[in-house]
Amino acid sequence: MSKRIFLDGAFVDQENARVSVFDHGYLYGDGVFEGIRAYGGRIFRLDAHVDRLFASAKTVMLEIPYSKAEIIDLIREACRVNGLQDAYIRLVVSRGVGDLGLDPVKCPKPTVVIIADSITLYPDSLYRSGLKVCTSSIRRQRAEALNPQIKSLNYLNSILAKIEANQRGCQEVVMLSEEGFVAECSADNIFMVRGRKVITPAPHLGILLGITRSAVMDVARSAGYEVIETTFTRHELWNADEVFLTGTAAEIVSVVSIDERVVGDGKPGPVAADLLTGFRDLARRDGTLI
Ligand code: PMP
Repeated sequence: MSKRIFLDGAFVDQENARVSVFDHGYLYGDGVFEGIRAYGGRIFRLDAHVDRLFASAKTVMLEIPYSKAEIIDLIREACRVNGLQDAYIRLVVSRGVGDLGLDPVKCPKPTVVIIADSITLYPDSLYRSGLKVCTSSIRRQRAEALNPQIKSLNYLNSILAKIEANQRGCQEVVMLSEEGFVAECSADNIFMVRGRKVITPAPHLGILLGITRSAVMDVARSAGYEVIETTFTRHELWNADEVFLTGTAAEIVSVVSIDERVVGDGKPGPVAADLLTGFRDLARRDGTLI
């Protein structure tokens, strides 16, 4: 069935949702985006996603032509017009149409797109078996070059890492900070477990501050785990009891092998399972009604 896409002020049929080749989102990856999820008629942490979008836009000096409240209403409407209760929502604001030069000043009107689609989940088998991951030779870029906190349309840093993962038969890839500390994955945040401690790289290491990361930290704290944001190397990761990844699409997924080292007993661990139960429970009762 054809989807209704929000494009520049109106909902249009998917076939008519076309953006100019002169849009700087296309020519330069100049723009920002969010990936958001709805569970059973509730949009998960919608305010946090919209806040992050506006923060990314502010840093790249892209003026979103709607207020936060208007964007929230448009996202809800995108779900409603497509009859979706469970959805993956992609919100994209690009610099808009300009000329062939990169100067953003020449792009007077940002392009706003909202796509609400059904979710394509990772296969269940991956959750049961756990992921095999490796470390990329590509480092996360330092904040002074391109701050990973900006969720921009420019994903080549992650894509180069993902290519390495594909070549090595891995489902995700660990990216290190420039100094060699564990930062995050190509499209997920990373956690390790030691006893009752749930440990994740600190924001200053240059990571996207994931909405799922923050929700999982909340769930872990209320379940009585000690949550620690810190700096650590692959040595600690390889020797953790459990390792898991978090992201809007992935939710919480266990890692059972890193750089050919078996994590724990080589099976998805109990802490990740416990947190996933808590997370799903939270997602189903907490969220903005569609
Ligand atoms: N890191 C990166 C680089 C990402 O692109 C994402 C989003 N897919 C995440 C982490 C996870 O963020 P969130 O939980 O907000 O989806």
